[in-house]
Amino acid sequence: DLFGALFEAAPAKPMMSRTVPVLVPMPAPRAYSYAVPEGMAVEPGSVVQVPLGPRQVIGVVWDGEDDGGVDPKKLRPISHVFDCPPLGKHMRDFIDWVAAYTLSPPGLVARMALRAPAAFDPEPMIEGLRFIGGQPERMTPARAKVMEIAADGLSWTRLGLAHAAGVSTSVVDGLISQGIFETIFLPPPPVVAKPDPEFTASRLQGPQKDAADEILADVRKGEFAVSLIDGVTGSGKTEVYFEAIAETLRRGKQVLILLPEIALTASFLERFQDRFGAKPAEWHSDLAPKMREKVWRQAVTGEVRVVAGARSALFLPFEDLGLIIVDEEHDPAYKQEDRVYYNARDMAVVRGRIGDFPVVLVSATPSVESQVNGQSGRYTTIHLPTRFGDAALPDLHLIDMRRHAPERGGFLSPVMIRAIGKTVAKGEQALLFLNRRGYAPLTLCRVCGHRFQCPQCSSWLVEHRFRNQIQCHQCGYAERTPEACPECGTLDHLVACGPGVERIAEEVERHFPEARTIVLSSDIMGGVKRLRLELEAIAKGEADIVIGTQLVAKGHNFPLMTLVGIVDADLGLANGDPRAAERTFQLLSQVTGRAGRTGLKSHGLLQTYQPQHPVMQAIVSGDASAFYEREISEREKAILPPFGRLASIIVSADSRQDAETHARGMRNAAPQVSGISVLGPAEAPIALVRGRHRFRLLVHGRRNSDMQGFLRAMLAQSPRERGSVQVQLDIDPQSF
Ligand code: ADP
Ligand code: ZN
Repeated sequence: DLFGALFEAAPAKPMMSRTVPVLVPMPAPRAYSYAVPEGMAVEPGSVVQVPLGPRQVIGVVWDGEDDGGVDPKKLRPISHVFDCPPLGKHMRDFIDWVAAYTLSPPGLVARMALRAPAAFDPEPMIEGLRFIGGQPERMTPARAKVMEIAADGLSWTRLGLAHAAGVSTSVVDGLISQGIFETIFLPPPPVVAKPDPEFTASRLQGPQKDAADEILADVRKGEFAVSLIDGVTGSGKTEVYFEAIAETLRRGKQVLILLPEIALTASFLERFQDRFGAKPAEWHSDLAPKMREKVWRQAVTGEVRVVAGARSALFLPFEDLGLIIVDEEHDPAYKQEDRVYYNARDMAVVRGRIGDFPVVLVSATPSVESQVNGQSGRYTTIHLPTRFGDAALPDLHLIDMRRHAPERGGFLSPVMIRAIGKTVAKGEQALLFLNRRGYAPLTLCRVCGHRFQCPQCSSWLVEHRFRNQIQCHQCGYAERTPEACPECGTLDHLVACGPGVERIAEEVERHFPEARTIVLSSDIMGGVKRLRLELEAIAKGEADIVIGTQLVAKGHNFPLMTLVGIVDADLGLANGDPRAAERTFQLLSQVTGRAGRTGLKSHGLLQTYQPQHPVMQAIVSGDASAFYEREISEREKAILPPFGRLASIIVSADSRQDAETHARGMRNAAPQVSGISVLGPAEAPIALVRGRHRFRLLVHGRRNSDMQGFLRAMLAQSPRERGSVQVQLDIDPQSF
């Protein structure tokens, strides 16, 4: 199983040979041999530049004996060694481990650790000025202003000083020529100030203190251990792990905090700053390239002490990492499904094991996997069952939509509309949650029944009325919403079926024309910047009704929000995935948890057609444990993860037949191993994406089966690429 297979570290050997293996960030199956030129010093982990075909690429000197057999004279030499600290042994072992576990080429995994192309050479020193003192021959008001500002003794750049004094740079130049300032070279400025563990004192109370003590004991030992903080929203989980961070900083180690929606959590960074006097460095895909390079480099040199990042931050080669926090550990955003398929939550645990340091998982609704690991004693579970202070969890009620039907053409039950009205009248905020972007999930012609389908995917086009477009949510294909049906030509007979957030906003505006409404979804015009502004506006009370997708579910603190309405609580249950109930429970708990973060009385209303469903019952009763026990025992009966193992193999090709034939061939070539079976091939849940037809094989194994060995044997029989055919492996798939 995942963590049972302990990685055995080989002792590092000094490199005597004149050839070394170099891992290049490409889908190469192994490291390639290169010659080390006379006088060049490299060691495992050195970041180098090597020729590869006609190009020069970045690579890392890897571990292990080199092939030996090859005459070094026949090998191409390493071109350049970067002046950058070598990637440590733990990082290299981690890359090898992830590659072996996910059956990915190690070069592709290494590439994730090198994702800051120009970061390897040291940042250039910047030219600065030092104030020597004395008097210029002729004092002018402009010169006096410059000298007054420089008298603070701090170092300035020429431009910075001129700007600060409100004069032109020629004034500063004049003072330099008269010997009042001298030019010096300054080290590049740090991207963030160093967080100070003593900036404020810990303020933990009661059960928070007990929780922190348990984790702190692990942190002080500085050994591998996994804790799971399982506490309701607002119980102080963040406060508790802040203390683990403080202790790690005191021990002189670096900290990584993983967050599922880091780009949107400005409030988290501020909160961190309140506790530690400085913000953590950020790491996510919206970071400007220059900033990325700096953060990468300063994580490697140890300048940056704390990084808050998205899942990809797990592959930053920290100088001396001593703690990883995985906040919202159950969140599906931790799964990367591109090239290297991995779950950052699980790989964080692996990284802690290899680096021998503690890992803290945090959630109000932990994943079934983590709960089972808690029950078996692999993880230490710490419970925080109540909200901090006088904040209470919202009162949750189901609205049985069979009895409280919306009026014609609407999607909100009269009960919901009344509750919104009351909330807004009190000057408080309501959130309406629907996990569906756009206006309507399906558009069809009332005359001929024509449905708008994506030309390259097996999915319906979604109407986005604000943009006057119909869009494919699989591939991004978009066209103007047509006026006439392309099939029968009838004008103005297109109908929208079902609701998206835009349509709910329209309904809300009909009922509450005076209210200030905001619609929030990831495709908002203006991107992340605009989203951040809107979230701030909501937190400040500048909106009455918010209609949003899961973006609004994560981590935000809206003090005035006292009503959360779930438009379609059944939405996630329909897809037949064994994880559907768990995911729906997690999402609904998280969204309703946005209400009542302060002392105000708060409510959650869930519109459902299946009020008896175990998920709905678990949500309103507040009894998560009964729900989880059921889920866990069902997984156990079916030998589904974490009681069994799964891998999904997606075979895609330009033609449906090529994909199916290849998948069938793979299945037929699979070895016979007891305890492991191959299901399929069947059409993948999304059978066509961007013009590629997809078939899926599911490999199911018992808990202790050698899944990786089996898959390697299977892949050895049939290539992963042939013509247009491509095979993608997904170990521990999200849906199955
Ligand atoms: P969670 O991470 O479990 O959602 P938080 O750590 O965000 O909970 O705490 C919820 C709210 O309660 C926050 O506003 C936080 O500042 C406050 N809080 C929690 N614990 C304390 C404490 N010991 N002293 C003061 N405020 C606290
Ligand atoms: Zn499409």
